[in-house]
Amino acid sequence: MDYILDFNITLAPFRPAQGSSYIHTPRHIAVKKCVVNVQNRNDQLCFYSILAHIHDVESDRNPSRVCHYRHFLPERVTTGLTFTLAVKDVAKFERLNEDVAVNVMTFDERQPIPLYVKPHRQRKHVVNLLLLTDDESSAHHYVLIRDLARLVRGRYKHHGKAFVCQYCLHCFRCEHTLTEHIPQCSIHTPQVVTYPKPDDAVLHYTAMQKEYPVPYVLYVNLETFQTPDDGGVAVHEASGFCCLRVSRVDIETFEPFLYSGPDVLTEFYRHIYAEQEAICKKVEHRERNGTVHRCRRASLSRHLSLSKLSQ
Ligand SMILES: [Zn+2]
Repeated sequence: MDYILDFNITLAPFRPAQGSSYIHTPRHIAVKKCVVNVQNRNDQLCFYSILAHIHDVESDRNPSRVCHYRHFLPERVTTGLTFTLAVKDVAKFERLNEDVAVNVMTFDERQPIPLYVKPHRQRKHVVNLLLLTDDESSAHHYVLIRDLARLVRGRYKHHGKAFVCQYCLHCFRCEHTLTEHIPQCSIHTPQVVTYPKPDDAVLHYTAMQKEYPVPYVLYVNLETFQTPDDGGVAVHEASGFCCLRVSRVDIETFEPFLYSGPDVLTEFYRHIYAEQEAICKKVEHRERNGTVHRCRRASLSRHLSLSKLSQ
């Protein structure tokens, strides 16, 4: 090494995501009326939300009161777990309590993000938890999601019921399409697809010449036979091709050129170069006669370039 151009060290406090005692539900979530935030102000036992799912309390009895669930605490195995429970330890909780599956998601800048999803969908209790974060103290707290579709309501436009994939938060209209989707989605880690805001949703490019319509296009279909070689790998042997010239400026109707016989590729290139020559003559003729035309010969030749085909 001769010298170092630049050197940066970034230091940050390590705050692993884990639950704790009660923190307030943010307003943008509370208005959806789809979570139960159990108010355990005097302890760090953050799995009251799981008990709130298993022992459902009706809305008119204030399900956020911790007294509804405290006497159910002994029925859950927590041997070896430390509270407050970190997201990475949720899997241990599931191993100790084999009738419970827990999914955890959070909100980042009002975007729902799945944090932990495991394929225990067949278990008796499948619990969806939302991990809240207090902006000032950075404390975390689990709340129970009673209605996941309502929580992610901004992600779909139809007014009917939605079926939400817990792995990617995609919303489906029909339950059977979600059921078909999950085997493919669950092989990946949880993720969420977000779309850019209108101001950021503009693509920029510099190849302006591609904006202009070309006067002639050749559509070519090349057919091959596949014959295995000695190593068992299929070799594509050209057997024929069909080429159709299409024009948006020429009133003439062109017939497709079909070839099937020996030496297909030689015949293919011969035909394409002949087409190029014929088209260039037509374009030159139109330009000589003052026809309004945006495509110059150089541009046309580029579009007819066979470099890619020959690769
Ligand atoms: Zn999915």
